Amino acid sequence: MKVAERITLASPVLNGNEREYVLDCIDTGWISANGKYVTKFEEKFAEFCDVKHALSCANGTVAIHLPLLAYGVGQGDEIIIPTFTYIATANAVKYCGATPVLVDCENDSWNIDPKKIEEKITPKTKGIIVVHLYGHPVDMDPIMEIAQKHNLFVIEDAAEAHGAEYNGKVVGSIGDVGTFSFFGNKVISTGEGGMITTNNSELAEKMRLLRGQAMDPKKRYWFNEVGYNYRMTNLQAAVGLGQLENIDWHLGQRRRVAESYIVKLSQFNDVFTLQPEMPWAKHTYWMVSILLADKVKASRDEIMALLEADGIETRPLFYPMHQMPPYYEEHSNYPVADQISSRGFNIPTNATLTDEQIDYICSRLVFHCNNNL
Ligand SMILES: *Cc1c(COP(=O)(O)O)cnc(C)c1O
Repeated sequence: MKVAERITLASPVLNGNEREYVLDCIDTGWISANGKYVTKFEEKFAEFCDVKHALSCANGTVAIHLPLLAYGVGQGDEIIIPTFTYIATANAVKYCGATPVLVDCENDSWNIDPKKIEEKITPKTKGIIVVHLYGHPVDMDPIMEIAQKHNLFVIEDAAEAHGAEYNGKVVGSIGDVGTFSFFGNKVISTGEGGMITTNNSELAEKMRLLRGQAMDPKKRYWFNEVGYNYRMTNLQAAVGLGQLENIDWHLGQRRRVAESYIVKLSQFNDVFTLQPEMPWAKHTYWMVSILLADKVKASRDEIMALLEADGIETRPLFYPMHQMPPYYEEHSNYPVADQISSRGFNIPTNATLTDEQIDYICSRLVFHCNNNL
């Protein structure tokens, strides 16, 4: 089969009221960081995540920075994070002058291993950031137990997992704080954008203050501390509201695509496996991920290059933090993250993939793997 166009990994689908709402912003002049779409988007997102407060912000990275600031995290503090994540999780900790302390992931869910957290806790540890990787929720109960025992806060980095569930609870409502991203390749997008969810009203108020340069709410243009401009614009929120109104459709399409891959690919689990869905999880399949078995002699990058030549875009799984210069560890011991990261890649998980495209991707993937045993 010949495909005319390259099949992309991810692209936003703006098929709801996004255009109408954006034009309304332009027609009324409400294009900056206030306006009804910001308010509506926040209200609807709080409802979606079953929390009291949702605060929009400029992107998913500052969505992690703000709660850390609100908790007073600074120089000398340690924050536990998985080594297997996107770099934003670690960077937000670094922006505070604190140190990210890395933990390996589990073989089954690929997320932070709760059994390896306690050995990393020191008197300097202030909190834990978990990451629901590729849309698969973290095993939260043991982590909340550890946090309670050691008096630590828990931030859920749910940038990749809008709508994912752990034992029926939606992510972003389980820890003390949840953070989300609306970058162009995420489940729903505002171009750039982020959201913070919490049930802690005091913390929400502090984050709201810091988000707007810390201007005294009772005295305009008076500032008692150093704040940030981390606001979302009404234009971005207009797109976000249109996307959020349709989130069931977006999530449904991803599940359709993922289930189709699972049906077609499960029989080849001697040559590769997919990121599993744990019994307590509702995976949202931000990205479907493939892990090559040892018997495939070609490297991950070689298989990806063969797929690229077939017009299929793929992307390597994240490099673990401990391998890269800003967070490099000389004598590292994260065997699971090293193994998964070196042999795994994401395949197209667009909401718009057709059955024909999925068939094509599966047949090329199976062909190249079997051809390289
Ligand atoms: C995308 C992402 C972020 C950051 O989001 P931006 O909006 O790009 O700043 C944070 N954490 C994880 C795990 C992500 O995938």
